[in-house]
Amino acid sequence: MKTKGFTTSILHSDRFGGVEHGSLHKPVHNSITFAHASAADIAAVFQGKQPGFSYGRQVNPTTIALEKKLSLMEDGLATCCFATGMAAISSTFLALLKAGDHLVSSAFLFGNTNSVFNTLKNFGIEVTFVDATEVANVAAALQPNTRAVFVETVANPCTQIADLTGIGTLCAERGLLYVVDNTMTSPWSFRPKTVGAGLVINSLSKHIGGHGNALGGSVTETGVFDWTRFPNLIEAYKTGPASNWGLTQIKKKGLRDMGATLAPESAHHIAIGAETLPLRQARSAENAARLAAWFAAHPAIAKVFHPSLASHPQHGRAKALFRHFGSLMAIELKPEVDVFKFLDALELVILASNLGDNRTLAIPVAHTIYAEMGPVRRAEMGIADGTVRLSIGIEDGDDLIADFEQALAKAG
Ligand SMILES: *Cc1c(COP(=O)(O)O)cnc(C)c1O
Repeated sequence: MKTKGFTTSILHSDRFGGVEHGSLHKPVHNSITFAHASAADIAAVFQGKQPGFSYGRQVNPTTIALEKKLSLMEDGLATCCFATGMAAISSTFLALLKAGDHLVSSAFLFGNTNSVFNTLKNFGIEVTFVDATEVANVAAALQPNTRAVFVETVANPCTQIADLTGIGTLCAERGLLYVVDNTMTSPWSFRPKTVGAGLVINSLSKHIGGHGNALGGSVTETGVFDWTRFPNLIEAYKTGPASNWGLTQIKKKGLRDMGATLAPESAHHIAIGAETLPLRQARSAENAARLAAWFAAHPAIAKVFHPSLASHPQHGRAKALFRHFGSLMAIELKPEVDVFKFLDALELVILASNLGDNRTLAIPVAHTIYAEMGPVRRAEMGIADGTVRLSIGIEDGDDLIADFEQALAKAG
């Protein structure tokens, strides 16, 4: 069949995979184990010689249907889901790296990713954090023992955009694994495979699920990376085409051994949410661009961080690479405006962590998600005490502007 558009293929992917009883969605299979017809069958399934279901920590039909959908979204070969985005990130690196290895990471990171990379140091893995908006910084950090480069597409909260293309070229030249966290953009706005990423990570809790009702994470193998060049693969997992070796090890050492399995119920919620990803993102990105321009003209605001603004340092890069400028932004209030008073005055906008939700959320980042990091790392990331991260939702734009307007007036 001719390749379909993004939305069409996501909507119909379960059906074309063959759904039980003609059901429109892949049903939730809550069984943790699966019966086999014969001893020969169970042996063949466990030895990976025959497709089938062994045990719910590793495989589940509902989750596999979601994994197929995610592979379609990312134009990848295969996907492995996890209980959360953090489980996907930590399981990937714990499965692939070992003591003595070196990882280069963007310094502009989701707070918990920063935290888990610092944990890797306790296990003898070196990590260098660099300003990845310029590929030269990544190149300068490479060492003979560098095994991988990790970046996010758009960083949280100040929306710096990594030199995604330049780093992809560098990794290809050096034979390095390039891992891109695509959570902020989502595969509808950007496919990291197009810039040479070997593995793509998504937090499904954010845009892909979209409704704030299920946690999940995923790793997609794009087929770009040559795993024969990766020294840490276990011989037993080098079966089948080399393009699958990396994900096999992530499934075995990451998912199976560490056990952060996505619940089938959550997989179902996320799959339903994913059906409307392009519709939701078009609307939230439109609201965000409108609000960014409005905040930029407001006298109480010192800075606005959103790639839609021509003043954003990577505006051109975002325009060239992404379908839209996204729904995440940050505003920095002028020092004389009380940030807590402003947040307390919001009536519609919700004070909450999370992003990519249908509802607009606000959070004072220095006091919450980046509190643990300390003032020095915060300053490096461009975070001030008056910085508020906003994840813009799909509400009617006029209502959002009215709410921010009255809250800023009350905060003086
Ligand atoms: C939220 C987020 C994660 C972690 O995802 P969880 O599902 O909350 O564990 C990782 N990376 C980025 C960029 C995120 O925004």
